[in-house]
Amino acid sequence: MGDPDPTNDRTETERLDEEYVFGTWAYQSEVDPTEVTGGEGVRFTDASGNEYIDFSGQLMCTNLGHSAEAVSEAMAEQAEEGAYFAPGFATEARAQLGEKLAEVTPGDLTKTFFSTSGTEAVEAAIKIARMYTGKDKILSRYRSYHGATYGSISATGDPRRLVAEPGVPGMVKAPDPYDYGSTLDPMESLEYIDEMLMLEGDTVAAVLVEPIIGSNGVIVPPEEYLPRLKEIAHDHGALLICDEVMAGFGRTGEWFGSDVFGVQPDVMAMSKGLSGAYAPLGATTVTPEIAEHFEENMFCHGHTYAGHPVSCAAGLAALRTYEEEGLIERSSEVGEYLGDRLAELEEDHPSVGDTRGVGLFRGIELTRDPDDRVPFGTRDDRMSMGSTVLDEVSAAAMDEGTYVANVINTFIVAPPLTITEGEIDEAVAALDGALEVADDAMDR
Ligand code: PMP
Repeated sequence: MGDPDPTNDRTETERLDEEYVFGTWAYQSEVDPTEVTGGEGVRFTDASGNEYIDFSGQLMCTNLGHSAEAVSEAMAEQAEEGAYFAPGFATEARAQLGEKLAEVTPGDLTKTFFSTSGTEAVEAAIKIARMYTGKDKILSRYRSYHGATYGSISATGDPRRLVAEPGVPGMVKAPDPYDYGSTLDPMESLEYIDEMLMLEGDTVAAVLVEPIIGSNGVIVPPEEYLPRLKEIAHDHGALLICDEVMAGFGRTGEWFGSDVFGVQPDVMAMSKGLSGAYAPLGATTVTPEIAEHFEENMFCHGHTYAGHPVSCAAGLAALRTYEEEGLIERSSEVGEYLGDRLAELEEDHPSVGDTRGVGLFRGIELTRDPDDRVPFGTRDDRMSMGSTVLDEVSAAAMDEGTYVANVINTFIVAPPLTITEGEIDEAVAALDGALEVADDAMDR
């Protein structure tokens, strides 16, 4: 299976993949996927036997690393006992996972709608907010990603939304708390949102935000931002939906990004770390008042695989693993070390404009001109979602044995929460070498 094909350097799997698989995003049009064969801890291996540190946790989701046996065993057990029952039946795994989520989510978020991805978790949150409030509009921010289906991509603010425009009606976009690159001060951007909500009249069902912005640059707002945003939303009769798809499950050194700011949203969307990436699983948790509304009014929504028993078994085992192995606290402690090491890269490389983040959720933003904070040029052919220079740095890091994803103008560092300081040192050394490519490209 994984043997390299001597005739063209592509493995048989890579050849079949290219011929028969319609890839996601750039993987259909430009990038030829490399065959991967396995993972162990924070490392994964390609078909030529090269090993990589998973410094971005694949798509910022392998929070438990690649060998969380408790999770894979729980999945196998569930598959043997009964792989699938329709969502209209109650299963132990789903019921217990619901209970566990009520325990770990902030405040009195108590009832969970299950789905299979972050996109679906947000989609459900939007529908819940609209049906609950009887209002149509959703206010989200430009530097955001909320998913790929029509509702969630219409709520998305970054250029990935452009192919879907004009999209779903009623999506209002606001500015972001982006201290490094925006002309607006983060707290001023909030007052702008206040004004927008006033001008929209009483038509906005919810304000939808990532508490810490993920793929748009790992942007952490000031401490007072999220509490004030909740106040503003409520003042205008809108719910606060927090999209915790990337920030949730220990990534930030707390269970959730909302916890970093001591805020309980009205609706929370989750996925990624929820199952530690062992199974497709999304969750949308709401307050008792919202849940109660849907006891009288049917929630016209659901999927065949909503609350799939094997996914829920994975989720339950994942949550127990976070607790038993103290991974949330660990993320906070090891995250400090990671932050210090990345700050050294900022000092040593003129092309590193900013390093920021919390816990094991960090961004490295590049610049071709540190004084004016000019980003590197964008890739023309990927809806301006990235830069060829950052791609070159990622490729150089890969050659040095470290996988690090980049989006727009930032590398996203989001390794498994099990990473050690020694493994961080290895990955930072690889990045240190790779960033020379960007230093050299500053006047290109
Ligand atoms: N919301 C956020 C904040 C995300 O980061 C993502 C995925 N990166 C999504 C929603 C969509 O999740 P998925 O890709 O699982 O559908």
